[in-house]
Amino acid sequence: MASATYDVRGIVLRKTKLGESDLVLTLIVEDGSQIRAVAKGARKPTSFASRLELYSAVDALVARGRSLDIVKEARLVESNERLRRDLEHAAGAAPMAELLDRITQLGLENPRLFDLSRTAFRSLCRVTASQVPAITAAHLLKTLAFAGLRPSLDVCVGCGRPLEADSIDSLVPVSFREGGIVCTACNASIETVLEPMPAIAWCRTLLASTFAEIEAMDAGPAAGFAALGFCRQWIRDHVGSDLKSLNFLFTCGLF
Ligand SMILES: [Zn+2]
Repeated sequence: MASATYDVRGIVLRKTKLGESDLVLTLIVEDGSQIRAVAKGARKPTSFASRLELYSAVDALVARGRSLDIVKEARLVESNERLRRDLEHAAGAAPMAELLDRITQLGLENPRLFDLSRTAFRSLCRVTASQVPAITAAHLLKTLAFAGLRPSLDVCVGCGRPLEADSIDSLVPVSFREGGIVCTACNASIETVLEPMPAIAWCRTLLASTFAEIEAMDAGPAAGFAALGFCRQWIRDHVGSDLKSLNFLFTCGLF
C-alpha cells in the first residue's frame, strides 16, 4: 500500500480559491511533474499555508487524499518575494508559471525542468526591470525545448541546410507549424511568415546561454520582446492556445 504522506520540494505555479478559506495549489515538483494539493485555511494570515506564495519554492509534507492531496506542513525554501512585489517582475514571472502549469502533468517526470525553473525564478529576482523580458523569454524557450518543443533556428526544417548568413535587418521565413526556419529554396513549398532576423537571433542566443550569461548581457526590453513575440506564436501553434499572462506582458505598458 502506498504511504499516506510524502515529502516534496516544489515551486508554486498557481493558487485557486476553494470554499471560504482554502486554496488549491498547483506546483511543479523536483522530478518535474505537477501536483495539485489543498492548503486548508491558506487564506487566513495565521495559517502556515499563507507562506505558500506564488513563485516561492517550498518543502511540503503532503497527505494523499481521495480526490485531492492535502498539504500538512510547509517550509519556505525561497520566497522570491520580488516577483510578487515589483510590477515588472510580477508581469514577467506570470507567463513562466502559466507555461509550466500548461505543460507539466501529474506523473510526467522531467527533472531538468524543475532545476531550470528554479534557476530562472531566482535570476528574475536579481535583474533590473529592463532585463525582465529577456529572462522571461529565455525561460519560455528553454521550457519548450525541455518539453520536446524546441524550434529549429539554425537549420531549415525542410532540407536541413544551415541558415544563410543574412544581414541583421533581413527577414527570415519561418514555419511555426513545421517547426522553425525555412531556406529560400524550400520557401516555395512550405507556408511561411517572415520574422525579423533579430527575433531569431535573440531566440538562438537565449536558448544557447545560461541565465548568468543572460544577466551579464544586460539585454534590454527590445531584445526581450523580439524573442517573446516569437514565443507567443510558437506557444499558440505548439501548446495550443495563448498564454493570457504573455498577452498581458505585451499590452501592460510597463516596459
Ligand atoms: Zn530548405
